[in-house]
Amino acid sequence: MNFNLTEEQLAMQAAYRAFAEKEVAPLAEAMDETEKFDLGLLKKLHDAGLMRIPYAAEYGGEGGDYIYYALCVEELSKVDASTGITVSVHTSLACSCLDSFGSPGTKEKYLRPLLAGGKTGCYGLTEPGAGSDAAGQQTVAVLDGDSYVINGSKIFTTNAQFADVFILFAMTDKSLGTKGISAFVIDGDTPGIKVGENIRRMGIRGASNCEVYYENVRVPAANLLGKEGEGFKIAMKALDAGRIGVAAQALGIAQGALDLAVAYVKERQQFGKPIAAFQNTQFKIADLQTQIDAARLLVYRAAAAKSAGAPYGSYAAMAKLTASRTANDVAREAVQMLGGYGYCREYGAERKLRDAKITEIYEGTSEVMKMVIAGSLRLG
Ligand SMILES: Cc1cc2nc3c(=O)[nH]c(=O)nc-3n(C[C@H](O)[C@H](O)[C@H](O)COP(=O)(O)OP(=O)(O)OC[C@H]3O[C@@H](n4cnc5c(N)ncnc54)[C@H](O)[C@@H]3O)c2cc1C
Repeated sequence: MNFNLTEEQLAMQAAYRAFAEKEVAPLAEAMDETEKFDLGLLKKLHDAGLMRIPYAAEYGGEGGDYIYYALCVEELSKVDASTGITVSVHTSLACSCLDSFGSPGTKEKYLRPLLAGGKTGCYGLTEPGAGSDAAGQQTVAVLDGDSYVINGSKIFTTNAQFADVFILFAMTDKSLGTKGISAFVIDGDTPGIKVGENIRRMGIRGASNCEVYYENVRVPAANLLGKEGEGFKIAMKALDAGRIGVAAQALGIAQGALDLAVAYVKERQQFGKPIAAFQNTQFKIADLQTQIDAARLLVYRAAAAKSAGAPYGSYAAMAKLTASRTANDVAREAVQMLGGYGYCREYGAERKLRDAKITEIYEGTSEVMKMVIAGSLRLG
């Protein structure tokens, strides 16, 4: 057992950090204020290879693994959680469905451009009536000759405003329940797809998140991922991987918030000394850094297990449950340590608090994480 990153992992972590500080940090506040993701930044993320880290070179990936991917999402999210989730949804939700369940044809046509051609992916599972219980899908896909015709709508689709490729889940046989759900890969410009307005949100406001309507969208039968009826399995497998991304995002938010607070309390003087000189402040920071390090070990354990091809679903759930709770605890305390300035937009701490909340909700709420973990413990 080794708890240290390798030389190469440390070097890549430094490179991800340098990219985040140079390219992302200067845009973060404006993306939050304008509620718009910067498409110039999206291109830079693709060009720098940050949208293809854990995929094999065969289809244009970087040949890295989920440790590198987690390190990258953590560094990006330290400065901007909206960028972290934009990369994460593309990588571990959209691309992973194609990588694991695409045919050679769909991999060539869609995965290669997503990894090496600057194209961006999104993942549409959640519907207005199907959230935690994703089995309640109402979107339908009906086979008609050599294509499926899709009708329905999805809510909360991250990246939808600028995505080129949509992974979509729809019922091909309602009578079969979860076994009647199928997964499709769809060109974003297919007639009948309408992306709604950006949904106005509490946090990760720089990310794109929309309702998407599908009206008589005709998709070649060859765009089915896996077999008909395998959609629920594909969706859940992708979410296991995605949860490592969200956990790494939460970790980044937590560490970014604590770093910001530490820098502040070392400078800010009250009662004749820096606030950092008070033992209460020191003990608080010690507790928070310990909580972050514990969450980090869980994130790396999940990433290492996935990279090694070992079972990792419950590890990913534990990592997300712990890291998201940590992000919320640390961001709340960071605002407190900055006092009134923590509450002001220009100091950045309140953005971390607003961004942290979603990590307890998307890609499975904390309650759903507990269901996954309890399920793995075979309690009854
Ligand atoms: C900003 C944002 C981005 C998102 N991005 C995407 C995306 O890209 N693609 C996508 O498909 N979806 C996406 N989602 C959807 C997200 O995954 C869902 O919102 C989430 O899974 C919860 O579903 P819900 O909102 O319908 O809540 P509900 O399922 O209605 O849950 C409401 C509350 O009830 C609790 N609850 C539900 N069932 C139980 C139970 N059995 N026991 C105990 N408590 C329970 C939940 O934990 C939660 O606290 C996104 C959501 C947001 C807000």
